[in-house]
Amino acid sequence: SMNASLSYSLLHAAAEKFGTPLYVYHAEKIEQQYQNLLAHFESTQTKFFYACKALTNVHILKVIKDMGCNIDCSSINEVRLALHVGFLPNNILYTSNSVDFDEISTAVELGVNVNIDSLSNLEKFGQKFGETKAIGVRIRPDVMAGGNLKISTGHIKSKFGIPLTQLDALKLIQEKYKINIRTLHIHTGSEIKDVAVFMKSAEVFDTLLPHFPTVEVLDFGGGFKVPYAPGEEGTDMPQLGAEVNKVMKQLSEKFGRNFTAWFEPGKYMVSEAGFFIAKVNVLKTSGDIIFAGLNTGLNHLIRPMFYDAYHHIDNISSPENPMKQYAVVGNICETDTFAWDRAIPEITEGDLLVFYNAGAYGYEMASNYNARFKPAQVLFQHGEPKLISRADQFEDLLSLQVPL
Ligand code: PLP
Repeated sequence: SMNASLSYSLLHAAAEKFGTPLYVYHAEKIEQQYQNLLAHFESTQTKFFYACKALTNVHILKVIKDMGCNIDCSSINEVRLALHVGFLPNNILYTSNSVDFDEISTAVELGVNVNIDSLSNLEKFGQKFGETKAIGVRIRPDVMAGGNLKISTGHIKSKFGIPLTQLDALKLIQEKYKINIRTLHIHTGSEIKDVAVFMKSAEVFDTLLPHFPTVEVLDFGGGFKVPYAPGEEGTDMPQLGAEVNKVMKQLSEKFGRNFTAWFEPGKYMVSEAGFFIAKVNVLKTSGDIIFAGLNTGLNHLIRPMFYDAYHHIDNISSPENPMKQYAVVGNICETDTFAWDRAIPEITEGDLLVFYNAGAYGYEMASNYNARFKPAQVLFQHGEPKLISRADQFEDLLSLQVPL
């Protein structure tokens, strides 16, 4: 029922071969998403940095690198993973939040692009690097946007960015150390369907640019929405591309500088390219509820519990069965529920269910809670399913614990 890029039979075959629970990704779908971006944005004035927090497996990062995309990191370890995979420092961006200045300093010394998001770290940057290295600053635009409050990052109570109201203090630090501010960054949240939100960022850039004569890059952050439910629509890329192209030209003319737009899409790049497959262990009837109890839980896919996220669920063992309502639950000692009242092709114990949109913030947020193993990950590329990380084994649960 979803317009998925991998068929039921391919998913089923991967589950048979590698066991469940299992994360499955599709390289060609990732490439298709990137091509779709390239098709709508003016190439000479736009750069895309995959926000790798969504999914950091090095084989995925290699797919991203090989297609010519850049990479956005949210920790110094993600920066190290990117370097490990062979991204050039100049194609790496590190958008930091609440980090020790050491991480910023390390990233700058590695030659990576860095966005700083506090006056405190900007001051430390000025003290250490003065005017010798270009830097970006993350601005909090005081815009409310995003799929829900936990993924909204631009509003007036958000911890992210330097509040617009502190522009004077920001300028004082910049002048004191002659800091070369090359990038203004705004990320208002995740799952932003409304193109106007990005245009609002452009307005904020417009008001800020007279204060920052060295700025060349306008970084709009990530947050493109992708469809999660059947019939749902994502961000309208042709429209967003057209509007961004236009406003970038206007700003470049107005300020007499050739600005480049940067974007940091995470979900857009990998969400729909990922599938999570689990087996129904138990069917349990209670009143008019039928629980389908899976061999997985919030430890493997936390988004429904964490954000009330909708993940479409299908029965890949019996996709043609008549629909029936289920509460789809996990095996963890909280009430970990993936869906309360969901129509799914009628389930028999042992059937395999697939969760769509599992590529972004799925495996990446998985844990060993309840001492359960993290699942394996498989990548389909050129039609072949390859193991890209194995499931945990019992020894892995003990591997970090030192003998006393
Ligand atoms: N850039 C920044 C600074 C972010 O905080 C995030 C998400 O948290 C992203 C990019 C990626 O967001 P999304 O996966 O919604 O595109």
